[in-house]
Amino acid sequence: MVWSAWPYANGHPIERGSCWASSLATLWPDADNLAVAVATVAKLPTEGLHRTFTHSLFTVAAVVIAFYIVAWATKRPRWGNLGLGLGIGILMHILLDLLVWFNGVEILWPIPSWVNLWSNVTPPEWWSKLMLPAEFLCFALFFVLLDVTARKRGTDGGFLRTLRVWTVVQGVLFVVFTVLVYTMEAGFMIPYGALYLLSLGLAFGVTIRMRETVEAVVQ
Ligand SMILES: [Zn+2]
Repeated sequence: MVWSAWPYANGHPIERGSCWASSLATLWPDADNLAVAVATVAKLPTEGLHRTFTHSLFTVAAVVIAFYIVAWATKRPRWGNLGLGLGIGILMHILLDLLVWFNGVEILWPIPSWVNLWSNVTPPEWWSKLMLPAEFLCFALFFVLLDVTARKRGTDGGFLRTLRVWTVVQGVLFVVFTVLVYTMEAGFMIPYGALYLLSLGLAFGVTIRMRETVEAVVQ
């Protein structure tokens, strides 16, 4: 699950910079798929890599505390706000994963704590399949939202053409992989995984590039 909780925390009194940090942070927990990819290529077990160490409340606490320590040591309270923004972003991601994705989260990792609100529900197969290409659709919608906001607020004008190209690319990936998951038995997971990770990196890059727009969302 990618762009969870956008736009987050309506009117929550977090500072401008920390809102931007929150949106970066909502993306980052699924970067654990990178570990899954490395393990897959190295033919190592992938168990316990996804939705564990990056999806834990302890990680949220560690991030917030670490930034507060930096704020205290440097006497710059802004670091504390930044940490809070990151913590909120990760928390949003965990909550949306629990609520939407028909799957569990190791919420107190490293303590065994697999929480799955859906354990009594077996999602239909078509749904489970659709969840793979849906990641690309989420990226595309995230980019559309940035585009609309940027045009409304007059921000990041020089980047919008590029952004539209990436939006189309994500839309095409969504269509292509929707066809593939319903027509192929196997064989699409490796290209899917690679393109998914590239797209996640792209979303990070776009969020960093469009910082002005991201902050304008909550103005
Ligand atoms: Zn996740």
